[in-house]
Amino acid sequence: MSHVRVRFAPSPTGYLHIGGARTALFNWLFARKYGGTFILRIEDTDVERSSPEMIEGIIEGLRWLGLDWDEGPYLQSERLALYRARAEELVASGWAYYCFCDPEELAAKRQRALAEKRTWKYEGTCRRLSAGEVARRIAAGHPRAIRFKVPEEGVTRFTDRVYGEIEVRNESIEDFVLLRSDGYPTYHLSVVVDDADMRISHIIRGADHLSNTPKQVLLYRAFGWEPPVFAHAPLILGPDRQRLSKRHGAMSVTAYRDMGFLPEAMRNFLALLGWSPGDPSREILRTRELIELFSLEGISRANAIFNFEKALWMNAEHLRAMSAAELFPFVRAELEKEGLWREEYGQERREWFLRVVDLLKVRARTLRDFVTSGRPYFSDDFPMDPEAVQKNLRTNSAVKGLLLELADRFERLEPFDLQTTERVLRGLAEERGVKAGVIINAARTALTGSAVTPGIFDVIVAIGRERAVRRLRQVAATLSE
Ligand code: GLU
Repeated sequence: MSHVRVRFAPSPTGYLHIGGARTALFNWLFARKYGGTFILRIEDTDVERSSPEMIEGIIEGLRWLGLDWDEGPYLQSERLALYRARAEELVASGWAYYCFCDPEELAAKRQRALAEKRTWKYEGTCRRLSAGEVARRIAAGHPRAIRFKVPEEGVTRFTDRVYGEIEVRNESIEDFVLLRSDGYPTYHLSVVVDDADMRISHIIRGADHLSNTPKQVLLYRAFGWEPPVFAHAPLILGPDRQRLSKRHGAMSVTAYRDMGFLPEAMRNFLALLGWSPGDPSREILRTRELIELFSLEGISRANAIFNFEKALWMNAEHLRAMSAAELFPFVRAELEKEGLWREEYGQERREWFLRVVDLLKVRARTLRDFVTSGRPYFSDDFPMDPEAVQKNLRTNSAVKGLLLELADRFERLEPFDLQTTERVLRGLAEERGVKAGVIINAARTALTGSAVTPGIFDVIVAIGRERAVRRLRQVAATLSE
């Protein structure tokens, strides 16, 4: 394949949402697979709807997702002179003409047609003006736009790598505006000029742009340029098959970061929205596998269905599959946010810290769980679940004495490890004629405040002798015999 150059070209009129992130990811995977170039271009020619905050937000989302770009960000607002020059070139070559019609009047006509359920397209009034009339209006300073002169006959064809052969009758396409009278380009002009100028080889974008493509193909032809390869990715719908929206959990990408998603899991989840490696049993894929397997052939025509539960499931799978060392920076960031991080976890207690991460990751669904389930390991200040307290500590009056005795035995125990703590606990149960489960459940709740934890002996060792003994005694003191 000749040098691959692809781009992500968001309009900064909103944050980086699921659909945009999926488009960016597909382009990035394609570039990385073929050793190509991934370009970021900000399409900010809609001055009223674009803002610097949105550009920042999009960049922040891309950075978090790890979708690094090789060129850009280019801002279309800094390239206006180029679009104007290109539009004038088309006028000179006879592919476009000046239009003096009042945009408001045209908009009103369009509205009326819409209300009456008629199709309406620009009548081509200015297409038929004589050269003399055009010159006169220019001299008189009439505001003017530039419109493309769509051929009146014939068809425009292109092959989409996903949707196949597309053919549109030219008579159904109106003479669309290229440059507005205020000198700003329309999307069709700036996108084609930039894709050509930036030597984009493949345009991978959402299927909502499929209907725009014939106009763009016409523009390539008029300029005498070869169109790039087009590949449109299917729309993403909610589980109810409606347009994806916030109520489906489709927030900005950074909202997923804040909910405790791993970028690795998010890349996996987004990649499978409309693409598949061919083997449906392969759902959990590391990014290097996605790069290796990605292809335009794997993009589906069927709408993709967004499923938040599936994203959570994938996140849990990735948490489990990743080593504690890989998870370290993410867990650290979560603990920092909660004020639970201590420098020693990265230094002399690093090994202990990684063991706790390994213990917790098995049950975690998001990184937030390292804060909630992890609190008893990283802090002495953790909540006691009232139901667990009632069931495991208060139902059996023997528990108080058992916990105190367990604390005494743990205090003297040498060494203090998985085997010895288990031996001591089971020995105590046998001596006192109670089920080991009674002591296990009581200890679990006394040490963590919870009724569900990893294996109790792992918990005991992770919490450590000193803190375990103290907690057992403190909790015992609150119980009556
Ligand atoms: N700025 C356009 C959008 O955000 C990009 C379309 C394209 O990729 O050509 O939808």
